[in-house]
Amino acid sequence: RVKEKGGNNYQLYTPSMNEKLREQLSLEKDLHNVLENQELLVYYQPKVDINTENIMGMEALLRWKHPQEGMISPAIFIPLAEENDCILKIGEWVLRTACHQNKQWQDAGYEPVCVAVNISVRQFQQPNFVELVAKVLEETELNPKYLELEITESIAVEDINYTIEVLNKLKDMKIKIAMDDFGTGYSSLSYLKKFAIDNLKIDQSFVRDIISDQNDAAIAATIIAMGNSLNMKVTAEGVETKEQWDFLKDQKCDYVQGYLFSPPVPSMEFEKMLRKSR
Ligand code: C2E
Ligand code: MG
Ligand code: MG
Ligand code: MG
Repeated sequence: RVKEKGGNNYQLYTPSMNEKLREQLSLEKDLHNVLENQELLVYYQPKVDINTENIMGMEALLRWKHPQEGMISPAIFIPLAEENDCILKIGEWVLRTACHQNKQWQDAGYEPVCVAVNISVRQFQQPNFVELVAKVLEETELNPKYLELEITESIAVEDINYTIEVLNKLKDMKIKIAMDDFGTGYSSLSYLKKFAIDNLKIDQSFVRDIISDQNDAAIAATIIAMGNSLNMKVTAEGVETKEQWDFLKDQKCDYVQGYLFSPPVPSMEFEKMLRKSR
């Protein structure tokens, strides 16, 4: 890249490893204080019934409002937080915030819906993970059936028996489990039936070109058919057009999430949608 350095003074500029590393290190350092500095926000994206268009739930999506850098995507800072213990306290904060918010909406009289929270493998592997979730539910007084935990296939490549045990404990507590980004990981299909999964989320990479790419259409249709026959609900992520929605509806997909209905929004705006829904 060529970067202008004032006047006519051009300089060849290649972002070196060092520079990238320094950027990451400074973000990583800032990550340690995000909670104390109250720089984190939770946005909510509606999950919609594909047939009735009713809001059936919402996904909690983390946002970092960095004082200098502005809004930083979780796609950037979650992997950094996962490299050290930051993800544990951040993850706990998201869980508590989302459960508390959901309970508040229920207390305000809105039709109860499920809130989905993304769980990192690092959190899931903590020996006290189930107890922590139980504690947060107790503190926030949210009925466990209105909490869904989103896990990824990477959980399946870890200790399988441990994973099954934890998922079963969560299921016994009536908490719902979603398999996020399904189709992008390395897990074997045989795990899918061993895991207590309620919801399969088709990754947006398959949804994006569902209309123009026959392979993506076939993959999405197959995931939906498989989910349906395994008694799971199927959610399509990243639905941006009416054509995608109609295709997924024809294929008997259950729920959709995506910009067509709404992007993730701050809680105040989400509440307006709840008010309008049903
Ligand atoms: P995800 O869980 O698969 O979340 C879906 C992502 O797709 C979100 O990106 C959402 O904003 C985006 N999205 C929704 N609808 C559309 C659409 O129609 N088109 C497109 N192009 N994108 C759409 P976001 O919010 O940037 O989050 C990225 C990822 O970061 C999440 O992917 C999740 O893996 C992770 N993440 C977010 N919040 C948390 C959190 O609290 N904890 C953990 N562990 N991970 C989180
Ligand atoms: Mg998710
Ligand atoms: Mg996803
Ligand atoms: Mg994703």
